[in-house]
Amino acid sequence: MLYGGLDLKLLRGRAPWTFRHRHADHESLKPAAEMPKIDYPKPDGVVSFDKLSSVYLSNTNHEEDQPVHLRLADTTVPVAHNLALYDAPEQRYCPAGVYEILCDEDGGNPRLQISAQNCLHCKTCDIKDPKQNITWVTPEGGGGPNYPGM
Ligand code: SF4
Repeated sequence: MLYGGLDLKLLRGRAPWTFRHRHADHESLKPAAEMPKIDYPKPDGVVSFDKLSSVYLSNTNHEEDQPVHLRLADTTVPVAHNLALYDAPEQRYCPAGVYEILCDEDGGNPRLQISAQNCLHCKTCDIKDPKQNITWVTPEGGGGPNYPGM
């Protein structure tokens, strides 16, 4: 805040330098085996809500027959790399629950399901995927979130 004030008041937003991160965001991800399991509390429906209730409020919509706007460069990466090493982080960083790992009834044959219809266009998956395997492209026809109360 102090720097922001200095930049605005003293330098008038024209600082002749740029602060940069030393690494891309996806490079900061640590393997699941090195991290503690977080037991998130269940949403109480009063001050916290489940993802899909919040997605519903966003009114997001995409034409059903449009080309998919979430593209995987390599379809084997989500299970062979992301699930194996990072416990499929796309299931947690996506705020809309677009990415889900589904398995057979016996727990075998894991696969990634992408419900692109629910996408909120935050582009987190494009930035955060550990192998940079997901590309978010602009959907056709102005589809996407449309918050009616804003
Ligand atoms: S852009 Fe955001 S909401 Fe859409 S799939 Fe990626 S992470 Fe989820």
